Amino acid sequence: MREERLMKEIALWRISRLFDLAAHSTEENGKESPAIARRYVILARKISTHYKVKIPPGIKNRMCKECNSILLPGLNCRVRIASNGFLVYICDCGSQKKIHLTKKSVMPKNMAQGKNRQK
Ligand SMILES: [Zn+2]
Repeated sequence: MREERLMKEIALWRISRLFDLAAHSTEENGKESPAIARRYVILARKISTHYKVKIPPGIKNRMCKECNSILLPGLNCRVRIASNGFLVYICDCGSQKKIHLTKKSVMPKNMAQGKNRQK
Protein backbone atom coordinates (compact mmCIF):
# COMPACT_ATOMS: atom_id res chain seq x y z
CA MET A 1 0.00 0.00 0.00
CA ARG A 2 2.72 2.40 1.02
CA GLU A 3 4.89 1.36 -1.93
CA GLU A 4 2.02 2.02 -4.34
CA ARG A 5 1.61 5.55 -2.99
CA LEU A 6 5.33 6.14 -3.34
CA MET A 7 5.29 4.86 -6.92
CA LYS A 8 2.42 7.19 -7.80
CA GLU A 9 4.28 10.10 -6.23
CA ILE A 10 7.36 9.30 -8.29
CA ALA A 11 5.20 8.93 -11.42
CA LEU A 12 3.71 12.40 -10.83
CA TRP A 13 7.19 13.84 -10.41
CA ARG A 14 8.33 12.18 -13.64
CA ILE A 15 5.29 13.51 -15.52
CA SER A 16 5.93 17.08 -14.38
CA ARG A 17 9.64 16.75 -15.20
CA LEU A 18 8.85 15.44 -18.70
CA PHE A 19 6.43 18.34 -19.21
CA ASP A 20 9.13 20.83 -18.20
CA LEU A 21 11.60 19.21 -20.60
CA ALA A 22 9.07 19.21 -23.44
CA ALA A 23 8.17 22.86 -22.86
CA HIS A 24 11.85 23.83 -22.71
CA SER A 25 12.78 22.00 -25.91
CA THR A 26 9.76 23.44 -27.71
CA GLU A 27 10.71 26.96 -26.61
CA GLU A 28 14.30 26.46 -27.73
CA ASN A 29 13.63 24.88 -31.10
CA GLY A 30 10.25 26.37 -31.94
CA LYS A 31 8.70 24.68 -34.94
CA GLU A 32 12.01 23.23 -36.12
CA SER A 33 12.22 20.00 -34.17
CA PRO A 34 9.22 19.21 -32.00
CA ALA A 35 9.92 15.46 -32.25
CA ILE A 36 11.77 15.21 -28.94
CA ALA A 37 9.07 17.27 -27.19
CA ARG A 38 6.41 14.97 -28.60
CA ARG A 39 8.35 11.98 -27.37
CA TYR A 40 8.40 13.48 -23.85
CA VAL A 41 4.63 14.02 -23.96
CA ILE A 42 4.02 10.45 -25.15
CA LEU A 43 6.22 9.15 -22.31
CA ALA A 44 4.31 11.26 -19.76
CA ARG A 45 1.02 9.84 -21.06
CA LYS A 46 2.36 6.28 -20.86
CA ILE A 47 3.53 6.84 -17.28
CA SER A 48 0.11 8.18 -16.27
CA THR A 49 -1.72 5.19 -17.77
CA HIS A 50 0.73 2.63 -16.39
CA TYR A 51 0.66 3.91 -12.81
CA LYS A 52 -3.00 5.05 -12.97
CA VAL A 53 -2.09 8.61 -12.08
CA LYS A 54 -4.07 11.60 -13.32
CA ILE A 55 -2.05 14.16 -15.21
CA PRO A 56 -2.44 17.45 -13.27
CA PRO A 57 -4.92 19.78 -15.03
CA GLY A 58 -2.35 22.56 -15.38
CA ILE A 59 -0.21 20.21 -17.46
CA LYS A 60 -3.01 18.39 -19.24
CA ASN A 61 -4.52 21.64 -20.49
CA ARG A 62 -1.27 22.41 -22.30
CA MET A 63 -1.03 19.14 -24.23
CA CYS A 64 -2.48 18.51 -27.68
CA LYS A 65 -4.27 15.16 -27.84
CA GLU A 66 -3.91 14.85 -31.59
CA CYS A 67 -0.23 15.56 -32.24
CA ASN A 68 1.17 15.14 -28.68
CA SER A 69 2.82 18.55 -28.62
CA ILE A 70 3.02 21.10 -25.83
CA LEU A 71 0.79 24.10 -26.56
CA LEU A 72 2.78 27.30 -26.26
CA PRO A 73 0.83 30.40 -27.36
CA GLY A 74 2.72 32.36 -29.98
CA LEU A 75 4.90 29.40 -30.93
CA ASN A 76 2.67 26.53 -32.00
CA CYS A 77 -0.87 27.50 -31.06
CA ARG A 78 -3.35 30.36 -31.09
CA VAL A 79 -5.58 31.32 -28.18
CA ARG A 80 -9.10 32.61 -28.61
CA ILE A 81 -11.71 33.57 -26.05
CA ALA A 82 -15.11 32.25 -27.05
CA SER A 83 -18.26 34.16 -26.15
CA ASN A 84 -19.62 31.30 -24.05
CA GLY A 85 -16.84 31.52 -21.47
CA PHE A 86 -14.38 29.09 -22.99
CA LEU A 87 -10.71 29.55 -23.73
CA VAL A 88 -9.88 27.85 -27.02
CA TYR A 89 -6.37 26.70 -27.86
CA ILE A 90 -6.01 26.06 -31.59
CA CYS A 91 -2.98 23.90 -32.29
CA ASP A 92 -0.97 24.08 -35.51
CA CYS A 93 -2.25 20.60 -36.38
CA GLY A 94 -5.79 22.03 -36.46
CA SER A 95 -7.21 20.50 -33.33
CA GLN A 96 -8.94 22.66 -30.74
CA LYS A 97 -8.86 22.39 -26.98
CA LYS A 98 -11.62 24.14 -25.07
CA ILE A 99 -11.11 25.04 -21.43
CA HIS A 100 -13.79 26.63 -19.30
CA LEU A 101 -12.57 29.93 -17.89
CA THR A 102 -14.10 29.51 -14.44
CA LYS A 103 -11.96 26.48 -13.67
CA LYS A 104 -9.27 27.28 -11.12
CA SER A 105 -6.69 25.31 -13.07
CA VAL A 106 -6.68 27.87 -15.89
CA MET A 107 -6.06 30.96 -13.80
CA PRO A 108 -3.02 31.54 -11.58
CA LYS A 109 -3.86 31.53 -7.86
CA ASN A 110 -3.34 35.25 -7.25
CA MET A 111 -5.57 36.16 -10.22
CA ALA A 112 -8.33 33.79 -9.13
CA GLN A 113 -8.43 35.47 -5.72
CA GLY A 114 -8.61 38.93 -7.30
CA LYS A 115 -5.32 40.25 -5.88
CA ASN A 116 -3.97 41.28 -9.26
CA ARG A 117 -6.85 43.50 -10.28
CA GLN A 118 -6.13 47.14 -10.88
CA LYS A 119 -8.49 49.71 -9.44
ZN1 LIG B 1 -1.83 19.44 -32.23
